[in-house]
Amino acid sequence: TAAAGEPERRVARLTVLAGPTAVGKGTVAAAIRRDHPDVWISVSATTRRPRPGEIHGVHYWFVSDEEFDRMIAADELLEWAVVHGANRYGTPRGAVLDKLTEGRPALLEIDLQGARQVRQTMPEALFVFLSPPDWDELVRRLLGRGTESPEEQERRLETARMELAAEKEFDVTIVNTEVRAAADELVALMRSYPDSPEA
Ligand code: 5GP
Repeated sequence: TAAAGEPERRVARLTVLAGPTAVGKGTVAAAIRRDHPDVWISVSATTRRPRPGEIHGVHYWFVSDEEFDRMIAADELLEWAVVHGANRYGTPRGAVLDKLTEGRPALLEIDLQGARQVRQTMPEALFVFLSPPDWDELVRRLLGRGTESPEEQERRLETARMELAAEKEFDVTIVNTEVRAAADELVALMRSYPDSPEA
């Protein structure tokens, strides 16, 4: 609460959603976009090409390698990472800070490397780990049709084990048994942590 005579400054808290590959972070974010339009979800910049149906500025800002380099050099990214050894993904800082200053709940859906970077620069954020209902289900999703070589399968499983071990770095875990329930749980959690104490 602000002192008498001062305008009250409300600064919302940032929420970071991360978790293992293939756990369904993107699907949970899509459900929030559909069911909870008051929650603002950061639009990442990426160097990967758009998939059919993806819209520039809605799902991602699709940028060239040169533009991504420029954003890094200009310190415009809150965090960024190479994901799956291929493309770069990053969170534009300005939009996030604007939303928080407006007092609007803001959500980042990013990978574990990105979450660790935000932990360094914005430790007051709420870090939520999305976990698979069980290990067997994650393995099924990761191995897919089983067309990869045994070496590639082992590499993916090793990555999944490491990613699951990251759970202890997070404030809260949400188990993604059913997408809509996980989305509702996350939004309820964000609402129960409305404003940061210091503006
Ligand atoms: P996809 O290419 O399937 O849309 O996303 C691949 C991965 O990139 C997902 O695990 C997603 O969480 C991650 N990702 C999306 N945006 C960002 C971002 O801005 N920063 C980081 N570090 N990871 C991101």
